[in-house]
Amino acid sequence: MPITQLKCDMHTHTLRSEHAYSTISENIGEASAIGLELLGSTDHFGAGFLRIEPTRPGELVRSYQFWTNLGTWPRTWHGVRLMHGCEADIVDIEGHLFGHDVMVDAHGDGTPDECPDTLKNFVFSRSDYVIASLHSPAFTRTTSALENTKMYINALQDPKVLFLGHIGRMGIDFDIDAVVGAARDLHKMIEINEHTFDSTDGRRCARIAARCAELGCKIVVSTDAHICCTIGRFSEAIAMLNDIGFPQELIASRSCVAFESAMEESGIGSVDWEKGLSHSIM
Ligand SMILES: [Zn+2]
Ligand SMILES: [Zn+2]
Repeated sequence: MPITQLKCDMHTHTLRSEHAYSTISENIGEASAIGLELLGSTDHFGAGFLRIEPTRPGELVRSYQFWTNLGTWPRTWHGVRLMHGCEADIVDIEGHLFGHDVMVDAHGDGTPDECPDTLKNFVFSRSDYVIASLHSPAFTRTTSALENTKMYINALQDPKVLFLGHIGRMGIDFDIDAVVGAARDLHKMIEINEHTFDSTDGRRCARIAARCAELGCKIVVSTDAHICCTIGRFSEAIAMLNDIGFPQELIASRSCVAFESAMEESGIGSVDWEKGLSHSIM
């Protein structure tokens, strides 16, 4: 049976990403209007997108305080479940993620933090899940396919990373079967990114999706929306998946229940929809 509609969009951006143009309110309004069950808001977490100005004590926390108050977001808003996370940059060929080597050692008011931790953990611990993506592939110009493959697999091994973002877009060589196989074995996932079809012919995405189907690795289909009016619109990705006869049961973003179950399987756990300010505004 052909895929017609997917009920989750788990890779979207707000104004926080600086080159995205909608608020969380506008995004959730659009998700509701188009009939989504679940929205994931995943702003960029990387040096290319957000400024770090640790010139004075507390500057780091103040620069990243966006992630400290996400408990104010309703868990259900206009009838749509809402998760929040981030899209973290892969910053080196070892597959480290942004902020892994930066210490947060002061509170926002500049007083010393008795339990300093990395900026990565500061943001990841406040995220429901994390997407690991490559955006500045300069360091991959001289690396081999084998090294690139290990980079992706290492990034997937971070306990908070749920899926790899837009691996069909970055134009680097890697062993698709090895990355897809590792994602499957780790109970993590591969993203098929609608936005990638804007800048590529989609053939690489089709190859990756075909190997996910063969090897039994789940995928997440997402828009990577940078403005609200593109949320939930996956027409190119769905057409490609139908072309290759991709099995629906391997699409974790087909429903809220399927996505929650995949997140549970990954070891990341589940979201308590009743916790905090979770309530339906509908
Ligand atoms: Zn990205
Ligand atoms: Zn993105």
